[in-house]
Amino acid sequence: MTGKVYLVGAGPGDPELLTLKALRLLHHADVVLHDELVGGEILGFIRSTAKLHNVGKRNGNRSTPQAEIHTLLVQYARMGLQVVRLKGGDPLVFGRAGEEIEALRAAGIEFEIIPGVTSALGAAASTQIPLTHRELASSFIVLTGHRSSTPDSGWPASILPGTTVVVYMPGYDYAATSAQLEARGVNPATPCAIISRATWNDQRIYRTTLQDLSSAPQLPSPTLLVVGEVVGLAKRTSQRRETESRLPAIPDAVLHYPQGQERSE
Ligand code: SAH
Repeated sequence: MTGKVYLVGAGPGDPELLTLKALRLLHHADVVLHDELVGGEILGFIRSTAKLHNVGKRNGNRSTPQAEIHTLLVQYARMGLQVVRLKGGDPLVFGRAGEEIEALRAAGIEFEIIPGVTSALGAAASTQIPLTHRELASSFIVLTGHRSSTPDSGWPASILPGTTVVVYMPGYDYAATSAQLEARGVNPATPCAIISRATWNDQRIYRTTLQDLSSAPQLPSPTLLVVGEVVGLAKRTSQRRETESRLPAIPDAVLHYPQGQERSE
């Protein structure tokens, strides 16, 4: 009997943003391979007998090479185990799920993808920035910043007015990032925000404009950069998770979401 691999999104941080499906899989997985971005509260949902691998990296510490992650996923599934590959946000957004999918297909391993709230959407919600808006933004794009200072950043050649830009992994070379955006037609006066640890209890937001971005402080990672007229609508205060204080705790019955049968397809 072969097992199965689940590529699961853990959401941006707040454990209550997990899907019920993710929660159920964490309760029943035999093995969990997780990224560094997944917080302790979420890891607490994993049953105590499960084997846990932290395959992420932090502050220059070496992460598990991608090929080794593929080998582990395949080996555990061949042992007949239920394997969860737990990723921050959504697995299909800058999460290298594409490579894992290929490796699993090549090995003939059954797998399923469970979406999560990607950090751009978590951050937009928790800072009250509408990513699209009838008057201000008709589209939004997501980019990664880690190569933005090189000429071949993989970014589109031009960015039209009315586009909200969300930069994942913006790094701290804000001068390079703002220059790259301005070179693509973004107005230097456009509002932008650095959102640090979105949806976590210690979330912070720093608001500025593109032309002043280079003097922004280095907020704790992970951070996202949001650029667009809609950033002007961000909430003024920095109050955090409101659901926490206003609603009673989640009942145990939900946290121990019933095992149920795997739905057959
Ligand atoms: N798959 C993830 C992205 C992984 S890339 C997702 O869908 O969100 C890692 C980057 O995601 C970080 O460098 C940061 O830019 C962003 N990120 C993840 N969690 C975040 C959070 N809580 N707050 C701000 N940015 C976050």
